[in-house]
Amino acid sequence: MSCTLSVRWTLTANRFPRPWRTCPRCGTQRAFECSDKFRLNANGRRLDAWLVYKCTTCDDTWNHTLFERRHGRDLDPNLLSALEANDPALVGRFAFDVAALRRAAHRVEEFAGNVAHKEALADRPDAPERLEILIATPVPIAIRLDRLLSSELGLPRARIGAMRDAGHIVTAAALNRPVRDGCRVEFDLAVGEANMILRNACR
Ligand SMILES: [Zn+2]
Repeated sequence: MSCTLSVRWTLTANRFPRPWRTCPRCGTQRAFECSDKFRLNANGRRLDAWLVYKCTTCDDTWNHTLFERRHGRDLDPNLLSALEANDPALVGRFAFDVAALRRAAHRVEEFAGNVAHKEALADRPDAPERLEILIATPVPIAIRLDRLLSSELGLPRARIGAMRDAGHIVTAAALNRPVRDGCRVEFDLAVGEANMILRNACR
């Protein structure tokens, strides 16, 4: 019988990333906020689509190009109707595409995520010796792995680094880098904080 308790944490972002661009009206670099709205333009049979952003200081708009001069017949009808309806799931797909935003901005401000859900992946062993945390991030999240573990498990960050150095934490991921989808962290529970770690990992 396995003595490993496996849990999955699913992270969500509370805010869309904000691109910083030179605002023509303000005359300086400003953060732009997603307006949750698309703009479509038909030019004959060709379509352009943008996601509309607003300057956080003066409300001037900036249109983030999603595609240009696309032939109507080449477009998935579901995509077209989702664009016309400002479908929130589609807004999220583009608004979290940090790579595309970076190509159009000086820099992109990302926000830390929250753990929205923790679930055990199997029955809890009577006396678990190891804890495995699998982290799912359906959208990109800017929080560092050690900060996430620290805030969720109630351990100081320095302690997390020390546990890793001592081999009580095993992960292929870098502690000081943003959490990636599918990241896996294993804890050896032969440490003084085992009860607290177990309790906090599951709630
Ligand atoms: Zn402005």
